[in-house]
Amino acid sequence: MDVILVMNAGSSSIKFAIYATGPAPQNALIRGKIAGIGSAPDFIIRDDGEQGLQEEGLENIDPSATHAELTVRLLDWIDDHTAGYDLTAVGHRVVHGGRTYHAPVVIRPDIMATLAELVSLAPLHQPNNLAVIRSITERKPELTQVACFDTSFHRTQPRLAQLFALPRSMTDAGIIRYGFHGLSYEFIASTLPAVAGPVADQRVIVAHLGNGSSMCAMKNRQSVSSTMGFTALEGLMMGRRCGTLDAGVVLHMMDQMGMSCKEASRVLYRESGLLGVSGVSNDMQVLSSSPDPHAREAIELYCYRAATQLASLVCTIEGLDAIVFTAGIGENSSSVRRLICERLAWLGVNLERYANDSNATLISSAASAVQVYVIPTDEEAVIADAVCTVMA
Ligand code: ADP
Repeated sequence: MDVILVMNAGSSSIKFAIYATGPAPQNALIRGKIAGIGSAPDFIIRDDGEQGLQEEGLENIDPSATHAELTVRLLDWIDDHTAGYDLTAVGHRVVHGGRTYHAPVVIRPDIMATLAELVSLAPLHQPNNLAVIRSITERKPELTQVACFDTSFHRTQPRLAQLFALPRSMTDAGIIRYGFHGLSYEFIASTLPAVAGPVADQRVIVAHLGNGSSMCAMKNRQSVSSTMGFTALEGLMMGRRCGTLDAGVVLHMMDQMGMSCKEASRVLYRESGLLGVSGVSNDMQVLSSSPDPHAREAIELYCYRAATQLASLVCTIEGLDAIVFTAGIGENSSSVRRLICERLAWLGVNLERYANDSNATLISSAASAVQVYVIPTDEEAVIADAVCTVMA
């Protein structure tokens, strides 16, 4: 059977999946995740297909193994354990496609050079994305590799939604609001009609609430505005990232507090957000069961900022017909959804308590003016689909 490998490399993890090639691959045959890269890599593979494996962890992993080295380890595992699968192509989540890439693209050397130029725009993710691609090119040069971009989905946004109020020369140099989590939004946009019917094409805000959190306002299932901008630092409060911040604070950190750019970057990307405010954890599940009042305040701030930023997106689509919650927190935390939606009651948002508590698909009450859904996202399925389309 011809299969596709999907690679989704994050700052300290690689999620991967294997799909059968076909017109619209839905269910992965195998899924897995290498977490803790750079500290204590943990390699878990879950087989959903015919290979007979349930769940397997790989042993003897060098704690300092890089994304590239772990990719080779994964390719070896595939060679050894997937008899009957013929790997024909690899699809990659690539965080930044700049202004150039509006759609998936087959990776060639000149495209790698362009993507390398975008590393400075996504320093936590883009280098890992490219390292994984290079590693596969070296090990299996015969494979077609396709890059799918987190920024592409947002290229439908009107010009004003993409502009900062900065000097025009900086805009011309590419300092614009790109938006991220596009593969997740594309998945929701593609599945929403089956779940929600005609409301899918109306005014919808999707809240992707995970370690990284953002929102996207859509009309006709196209991106109109989003909370993440030039980098994945803007917008909502996140696990470790501060989200939208008065730029004057950054100047103060560097000018008055003597921080270097690297130190300021560490604070904003790694020591802020839920972790920074709570002093307990970046993990919503941990905070939810913590008795520490700072943990409670971190959750309340997360929800306050989510609600206020959702409200500002409503302006860009001139009203609201549906909200979709997705990703780890959005799919699982009924209390976060409730705290956000309670602040949106003035918009006519009203949850059905039992449905919300049980993570049902439709969680708004019959009286709610806005339909509210919980839909699990699947970025890997979007990439697999794109690879099949490109190959065809
Ligand atoms: P990412 O893909 O950005 O790393 P995820 O989408 O997996 O992140 O989301 C991770 C977040 O989801 C963590 O904060 C985790 O605590 C939270 N989460 C997962 N399950 C639950 C749950 N049952 N209740 C509350 N939060 C949860």
